Amino acid sequence: MEVISIPCLRDNYAWLLVVHDGCVVVDPSEAGPVEAAIAAARVPLRAILATHHHPDHVGGIEALVEAHGVPVYGHVHDEDRIPRLSRPLSHGDRFDLHGGLAFEALHVPGHTLGAVTYVGHGWAFTGDTLFTAGCGRLFEGTAAQMHASLNGVLGALPDETWIACGHEYTASNLRFAAHVEPDQPAILARIAHVAALRQEGKPSVPARLGEERATNPFLRVDVPAVRAHFGLGAGPTGAEVFAALRAEKDSFQ
Ligand SMILES: [Zn+2]
Repeated sequence: MEVISIPCLRDNYAWLLVVHDGCVVVDPSEAGPVEAAIAAARVPLRAILATHHHPDHVGGIEALVEAHGVPVYGHVHDEDRIPRLSRPLSHGDRFDLHGGLAFEALHVPGHTLGAVTYVGHGWAFTGDTLFTAGCGRLFEGTAAQMHASLNGVLGALPDETWIACGHEYTASNLRFAAHVEPDQPAILARIAHVAALRQEGKPSVPARLGEERATNPFLRVDVPAVRAHFGLGAGPTGAEVFAALRAEKDSFQ
């Protein structure tokens, strides 16, 4: 499976997953750039996967369904919120697409209540749930839900998993990571690496889950240095540390 990031809108990414006789798009926020990527791939579109209902992830669905007549996958909770949703999914549902593409839907509430991460072929398409070096805001769910989604559900995936998220936010997320853990070598190294990529006009996404575990504060709630940032020791739960991180990040400039 070849995976192509498609820049959309200001800082969104749609993802095109290509096999020899078809392709699938994740989170088409607008149709134009996705149509161009499909044409360049020279294979037919087989399905659309939506990670959640926000307009900057589903804005291109209507036009793509009109043009290609493909099914739309999303969480059952979002049946009335994702345009043209025709394949409602629940946690743990597995589905096979054309050409050997197979995915599992993991329900990861927090950013929204119907958020889904699609896992397959060594990749996880996380939308606005797990960002590279950060995580999405809590628009609908609680900190405890998001903590369980990130560190429970997605926490079970192996280090080698490629994380493909919905936005180019890595650099600003790393500024917060360095604020929480100053002088942490892996974070400093990643800041330099991402700056070099961006200078060359390259995306900073995807990244391996193992790198996230070493640098993403929201996956490091049990690390003593992260707890010490809030004056906390080993006592508070991971969900409580997560809530403190999310609250501080919400107003971090
Ligand atoms: Zn969103």
